[in-house]
Amino acid sequence: MKAAALVRPGEIEIVDVPEPDIRPDEVLVRITGVGLCGSDLGVYAGTRPVPRTPWVLGHEGVGEIVAVGRDVRDRRPGQRVAVEPNYCCLRCPACLAGFTSACPNRVIVGMNTPGLIAERVAVPAEFAFPVADHVRIDDLVGAEPLTVARAAIRRAGIGSGDSCLVVGAGSQGLFLCAALLALGVVPEVAEPHEGRRELAHSLGAKPAGPDAVAFVFETSGVPAALPPAIERLAPGGTAVLIGMNRQSLDLSSWTIVYRQLRIVGSLIYDHPGDFAGTVEVLERGDVAPHRVLQAEFPFEKAAEAFESVRSVPGKVWIRVG
Ligand SMILES: [Zn+2]
Ligand SMILES: [Zn+2]
Repeated sequence: MKAAALVRPGEIEIVDVPEPDIRPDEVLVRITGVGLCGSDLGVYAGTRPVPRTPWVLGHEGVGEIVAVGRDVRDRRPGQRVAVEPNYCCLRCPACLAGFTSACPNRVIVGMNTPGLIAERVAVPAEFAFPVADHVRIDDLVGAEPLTVARAAIRRAGIGSGDSCLVVGAGSQGLFLCAALLALGVVPEVAEPHEGRRELAHSLGAKPAGPDAVAFVFETSGVPAALPPAIERLAPGGTAVLIGMNRQSLDLSSWTIVYRQLRIVGSLIYDHPGDFAGTVEVLERGDVAPHRVLQAEFPFEKAAEAFESVRSVPGKVWIRVG
């Protein structure tokens, strides 16, 4: 069976890999599409080390179940699924508290276990979410990044009609804009790249204005982008940080305390509620991720797909099967 794998930093090849064995609690998924995102680029560039090469990449995968393990009762061959690519252990204190994004034993697909840009992949049944057939593939491929956005929105506590600023209109910023608009929030967007900014506006986001806002979502991870965004927060406002960077921020406790701000870090999503909620949203058609998925590449051109991620506004995805 074929898979797209990193052979050396910056080099992707289609390689032969062994057919996966499925354990009793797993399903075998024939992969049909995989989206590419910033964390995949870190692996691609060699800045995020992986256990070995060739290393199969990709975590935003969807497909169809073709076989189920002997203990699986609630999944069947023929079902379309979206993969939740963070397999938390479901036994540690964080998992038992429902805070699975903090699970220290998390299996992270494409990072510490091989990724999804392969013809077939074994997935724990519980992390393969069935999705109705009417959801188009280029909406379904957006399930994972949309879940990241929806989890940030849930953790922020923002509601219909609230004012907010989204910093960065890379694919995560665009998914946030789409999810906010579906909620009845018209976000402002700050983004230096014209193509990305226009894409955000075409979804319905507004240009950044001068007035104070109740919420800021920082998606760029650029350290210099956060302090001016925080300046825009009204007293009592909330800043949700999704973009990550190891550099320190130029931010005083005076600002945070005097203006009584809330700073919330939002990492991925919590199992199973966030992903299940995204599937419902996609089935109802509340959000249309295909408007963010701007560039489709065939499986054989996986290397070109990775090459183009930084230049294409919106998300790049690979049609696998
Ligand atoms: Zn992702
Ligand atoms: Zn756990």
